[in-house]
Amino acid sequence: MGSPRYDYHVHSDYSDGTDAATMIETAERLGLDGIGFADHVLISHPEKRDQHGYPMDISAIPDRHDELERLREQTDVRIFEAVEIDYYPFDEEAIDAFLIEHQFEYVIGSVHELGRYHPDEPTPSVHHNDEDFFEGKSEVDRMTVIDRYFDRVVRLIESNLVDVIAHLDLIERNPALRGLTTDEHYHAVAAALAEGDAIPEINGTSVTDDWPVLPRRRCFEILREYDIQFVRGSDAHGTASLETRNDRIDRWADRHDISFHTIA
Ligand SMILES: [Zn+2]
Ligand SMILES: [Zn+2]
Repeated sequence: MGSPRYDYHVHSDYSDGTDAATMIETAERLGLDGIGFADHVLISHPEKRDQHGYPMDISAIPDRHDELERLREQTDVRIFEAVEIDYYPFDEEAIDAFLIEHQFEYVIGSVHELGRYHPDEPTPSVHHNDEDFFEGKSEVDRMTVIDRYFDRVVRLIESNLVDVIAHLDLIERNPALRGLTTDEHYHAVAAALAEGDAIPEINGTSVTDDWPVLPRRRCFEILREYDIQFVRGSDAHGTASLETRNDRIDRWADRHDISFHTIA
C-alpha cells in the first residue's frame, strides 16, 4: 500500500476556484483519497482585495467551514480546510494573528508578488500575467527581481508561519524571468527547507513540456540532494485541471520514483 493520494492544493469558489461539491465529486471519480481547499488569503491592504478579485472574503471563512463540514458527511474522500496565504515580510505579524484567530488544518504560503501593495516597492506579479513589465527591464534589473523572489521564499520558510511552500520557481512561468535562476538560489532554498519544518509541494502547474511540474528540474534535483520531501498540490481551480494536473503529477512521480509525504 502506498501513501494516500492527497491533493493539498485546490481552490473553491470562496476564492477563484470552483464550488467545493463539484471538486469533491471529481476527486472521488479520480480516486483521490483527499482534497484540500486552500483558498487564497491576502492580508495586505484589505482595500485592494476587492479590486484584485482572487482572494477569499475573510468574513466568509465560517461559511466555508460549515459547507466543508456538510460535504464531509457525503463522501469518503478526506476534505481538508486550509488556506493559501500571500506572504509579505511586512505582514508577518498580521499573518500570525490571522492564523491564531482562524484555525486551519494546514497553511500553504506563497510568494506571488514582491510588492504590488507596497508603495515603496511596487513590483507587479512575478508570474506570467505581468510579462510586459519585466520584459522591458535590463538583465541586471531582472536579476534583482530573481534575487528578491528567492530571498522572499527563504524568509517565508524561515518565518515558520506556514506548513507548505507553494509552487517554488513560480517566476519561471514568466518568460521574461525564465532561466535566470542560479544553483545558488536553489541551494539557499534547500538549506532553509532542510533547517525548517515547512515542506514544499510538487505543483501541477506546467511551464514547459519537458518538465511538467513546479519546481523546475534543477531546483528539484538540488532539493533532492538535501533529502527534502514533497507533498502533492495540483493547484487546480476547476475540474478539468484537477484531472489533468493530478494525472500529470502521477506520471511524473512514477518516472522519478517519488512518493508523496502526508501532513494532515
Ligand atoms: Zn499560488
Ligand atoms: Zn493556488
